Amino acid sequence: MSDFPIVDLLSKPEHTLKTIYVACRTCYSALYPIKIWEDATDEEKMLNLVKKVLASGHHSTVEHCQFVFAVSGVSRACTHQLVRHRHMSFSQKSQRYVTEKGEFEYITPKKIENSSLNEEYKEMMKKISDFYAKMVEAGIPAEDARSVLPNAATSSLIVSLNLRELMHLAQLRLCTNAQLEIRTLVKKMCDLVIEQEPWLKDYLVPKCEIKGYCDEIRGCGRKPQKV
Ligand SMILES: Cc1cc2nc3c(=O)[nH]c(=O)nc-3n(C[C@H](O)[C@H](O)[C@H](O)COP(=O)(O)OP(=O)(O)OC[C@H]3O[C@@H](n4cnc5c(N)ncnc54)[C@H](O)[C@@H]3O)c2cc1C
Repeated sequence: MSDFPIVDLLSKPEHTLKTIYVACRTCYSALYPIKIWEDATDEEKMLNLVKKVLASGHHSTVEHCQFVFAVSGVSRACTHQLVRHRHMSFSQKSQRYVTEKGEFEYITPKKIENSSLNEEYKEMMKKISDFYAKMVEAGIPAEDARSVLPNAATSSLIVSLNLRELMHLAQLRLCTNAQLEIRTLVKKMCDLVIEQEPWLKDYLVPKCEIKGYCDEIRGCGRKPQKV
């Protein structure tokens, strides 16, 4: 399961940079926005303005661009962290309406997998799975039987968010202080977007890259600590 979490980019704006450029120009131009849109052909010019506007902190201009991801093979522990982000939308597989069949899928964090407790961990998951099945068999609804499912049980979800929130998400969750699983998930989300929009590589970065220093109590050494 080393390719977990599985992340796909389902949709993105057809004209990401141009949309942001028109949003920026509209704020400072007497022209109708549609005229700005029709005249916008020079990518370098668009990029220069967008970079300047973002550097000035006028970040609402990137809220017009929405990205939709399909995510699976991710633990409920990780999705619980993800749903703390309030400017994102989620549609997540229900543990009430979907009854697990056979042994439920679960995540094994690397540090457990590489430890002497790995076999015991697997046995524990098997025991939980058997007890869950026993409850379902006895007529307990999935919504109650799920009480025994662990944080490690995997989930699937559709996640959508705008570019401003994706930048914020990257800043918090690409930091090495974020747990490895969510860091991996957010890295995959960012990489998929950067593949399509390479100019975003300077914005989909951990917060220390934006600030130029680390404000965490325990830094990783990537940037000097804030004094
Ligand atoms: C390394 C790490 C460890 C964490 N540990 C814990 C923990 O131990 N316990 C815990 O409970 N949480 C923990 N969290 C979660 C954290 O507290 C936040 O809930 C989560 O990161 C979402 O961040 P956010 O509120 O900045 O972002 P979002 O919810 O994505 O919001 C984006 C931005 O919008 C603005 N905003 C959103 N809602 C409001 C509002 N209601 N009022 C004003 N401004 C708003 C803020 O500027 C916010 O930064 C942790 C997060 C990280 C990254």
